[in-house]
Amino acid sequence: MKQNDEAWEAVNWDLDFGSFEWMVHLAACFNRHLPAGAPWTEWPEWSTDMPGWVQDKNRPGWLSALRLIHTHPRIAVKKSVVSVTSSHGITRELEDVDVSSRWWHVDVNIDWNVPRPLVAALDELHGPSPSHAFVPGQMEQLCLGVDDDSVSYGLGLSSVLQAMLDEVVLLSQATNFHAAKCRFCHETTYREGLRGQGFPPGKEVLFACGSCTGEPLTN
Ligand SMILES: [Zn+2]
Repeated sequence: MKQNDEAWEAVNWDLDFGSFEWMVHLAACFNRHLPAGAPWTEWPEWSTDMPGWVQDKNRPGWLSALRLIHTHPRIAVKKSVVSVTSSHGITRELEDVDVSSRWWHVDVNIDWNVPRPLVAALDELHGPSPSHAFVPGQMEQLCLGVDDDSVSYGLGLSSVLQAMLDEVVLLSQATNFHAAKCRFCHETTYREGLRGQGFPPGKEVLFACGSCTGEPLTN
């Protein structure tokens, strides 16, 4: 029997053909002849009514993401939701995943106070910062993905999944914020970037807030 015929033999036809789960499953079927541990090389023969059209040059990146999802013990896919359990046991989900996705929203889903062992790990990685101690509301949802058009979005997804697997990597992003104060209305807030600058009170980084720079209200 030809390799592709064998792949089709292994297919679970009960899955939803419009889902990302189907795509992961079909890619797994087409690469099942490869030794465990080997990178996937076979792009499945999609029929035209299935999701998954990807330019040739971006296929290796997607195959590597699909393989990571299929093989990693702490990653699961159900319909088009990918769930990842971090090194510290926190499960987070990516919703509506498909091959045209470029950015993914990740709920940090951690208490305001970052657990002390993680603060220590962040301090070691980046140098001590007051921002490592807590995750403010502004940083509770991260938007992660690829900024570079020349990179396969699949590789972008892999990097997002790797961050979700490693609590320290994810919290590195969630604690990269600074204390800021509007130069006009003097409201204080936290803003993304400039890890730990603007602390303590009175030392905030100045900016112009949305209500001070926005269009005046009409009515
Ligand atoms: Zn303002």
